[in-house]
Formats: sequence, structure tokens, C-alpha cells
Amino acid sequence: MTTKPTVLVTGGAGYIGSHAVLALRDAGYGVVVIDNLVTGFDWAVPADVPLVRGDIADQTLVEATLRDHAITAIMHFAGSVVVPESVENPLKYYHNNSAKTRDLIDSAVRVGVPHFIFSSTAATYGTPDVEKVREDTPQRPINPYGMSKLMTEYMLRDVAAAHPLNFCALRYFNVAGADPQGRTGQSTAGATHLIKVAVEAALGKRAGVGIFGTDFDTPDGTGVRDYIHVSDLAAAHVLALEALIADPARSHLLNCGYGRGFSVLEVLDAVDRITNRTIERTLLPRRAGDPAALISDNSAILATLPWQPRHADLDLIVSHALAWERSLDERQGA
Ligand code: UDP
Repeated sequence: MTTKPTVLVTGGAGYIGSHAVLALRDAGYGVVVIDNLVTGFDWAVPADVPLVRGDIADQTLVEATLRDHAITAIMHFAGSVVVPESVENPLKYYHNNSAKTRDLIDSAVRVGVPHFIFSSTAATYGTPDVEKVREDTPQRPINPYGMSKLMTEYMLRDVAAAHPLNFCALRYFNVAGADPQGRTGQSTAGATHLIKVAVEAALGKRAGVGIFGTDFDTPDGTGVRDYIHVSDLAAAHVLALEALIADPARSHLLNCGYGRGFSVLEVLDAVDRITNRTIERTLLPRRAGDPAALISDNSAILATLPWQPRHADLDLIVSHALAWERSLDERQGA
């Protein structure tokens, strides 16, 4: 019997969403997933978790799901996540990330769901002029992906002021790694994110890795990012939910990172070290929409939630990503 509330996880068949499903389940919450399976996988959802196949903007379906399962909170992961694609196809991002989320929030309000947790992003900050980004650092996205997510933050702020709903927007820095128990991981074909691409290259699934820009204003000239382990991020979502339930009058905007950065070269060195191979590196021009460095100041999340990062180590992140990548081979070869 579930004594804790039930949470609707949108995009629960995807990379981060499937880790959140496990974290919620492990913490004793009821979980229902809605996913259109465009980029997600049904096998990523545990067999005992109901999976509603459909679109978050299908308000009839979503509202029936919210009512049927007496949903207390929505964790909203569904969306499009590739920065360069957003530059080429901005309307896809404003549709999938902003417009559809507007409909999802509308459904939450209509049914009276009191809590909403949103996957926001460090890309809402654009190119910050501070070394470590705080939540009050001005948000000036430099790509449509970041703007599409910032628009949702604004919607949530306004809706929380007008309706009985509180929210937490978690601004993710660079999410990587996989479930330490090997239950889920990043499975998307044609991935573009650095650690995923690098472990694929290390396992011979790609010829090598292109380095997008070596002339940034960073110590080694390559882009610097704050890589956070996906399981620590999932844990933050459960704690954010508990904070929203504990004080329905408060909403939160919180960075999710470890407060330190690694360059592209440092990441590739870590993958080489852990696999004992040498990935072929190609120096390429900068990629559209990429800032030089994005590192969190994570003091707000540490002060607001009882969050204790457990996997804040680049080698650990890489080794979990690698273990998952190997298990994907077995899955596909089976
Ligand atoms: N990057 C790279 N080669 C790749 C993928 C990414 O050099 O194949 C760089 C990218 O320019 C950025 C960093 O790695 O500096 C992280 O990029 P990613 O796409 O993983 O995440 P983003 O920060 O764009 O969300």
C-alpha cells in the first residue's frame, strides 16, 4: 500500500525522468509516468509503474490521469534538450518546451494539483559574467533551448501567484552518469552530450570526439561545464517535492550542480584514464549557442534542501556512464 502521495512524472521513460522514477519509488512514493516515447523507452519504466503513452498537451488524457491516480505533484521532464538543434529549429523548442508545458500547467490548475517540479536549465543564464552562477544572476539565454525553459519559469511564477500551486524550478547544469545499480541510464541514439559521446567513442561506437572550440576564454581554451551525476539530481527532485509539500506557500528556484567545472579536455582525459584507451580527438570550430563556461553556485540548494551529493566525482560519473553504455550493448545484442 502506498502511504506517500503519488507523483506524475512526465518524460519518465527518458534519461533524467527514469532516474527520478527510481528515486521516487525507492523513497516510497507512488509514481505514474506519461511519455510519448518519441525519445524515451518503455523498458526504462519499471514494470510496476503505470506508463501512460501520450502527449503532455493532450489535456483530456492528462486530466483523466491526474484524477484517476489522485496525483499530488507533477515532475515535468518531458521536452527537447539539444542546444544546437534548438538553434536550427527554434519553433520545435517553443512548441515542445514552452507551449506544451503551458497546457500541462493548465491541466494541473484545472484539476487542482498543488505541486509542480520543473526541469529548468543553466542555459537560462546564457553567458554569465560571473565565475559561479547564482540564482539571482541575470537570466539572458543565448539559445532557444534556454529561452524555451525560461518562459516556463515565468509561467510557473505567474501561475503560482494566481492559483493554489507552488513550484520548484531546478536549474540543471550538465547532467551525466547513470544509476549506480545499473537500472537505467542515457539510452538515446544519436546523443550529442559530451560524456555520452565520449564513452560511445571509447567503446568504438564512434570514430572519435570533436572538440567544439579551443579558443574560449578558459584555462585550456575548451568549454567548461559543471557536470552533475544524474542520481544526485534525481535525489534533489524528491527533496524538492518534500519541501513543496512541507510549505505550500513557498516556491523555489534552485541551481543543481556541484559548484566546480571541468573542461572538455579534462572530461576526455577522464574517459581515457578510466577506459585505458585514447579517444581520437578532432579540433573543431565553436558550436552555435555554446557559452565558454557554466559553473553553479550551489549554496541555495544546499541551504534549502537536505541535499547531500553522493557522486560528486568526475571519474565516478564517467565510470557509471561507461557501465551503462556497456550494458546497452548487451541489451541491443540480446
Ligand atoms: N562538446 C564537445 N564535443 C561534443 C559535445 C560537446 O566539445 O561532441 C562540448 C560543448 O561545446 C560544451 C561541452 O562539451 O563545451 C558540454 O556540451 P554538451 O553538449 O554536453 O552540453 P551543453 O553544455 O551544451 O548543455
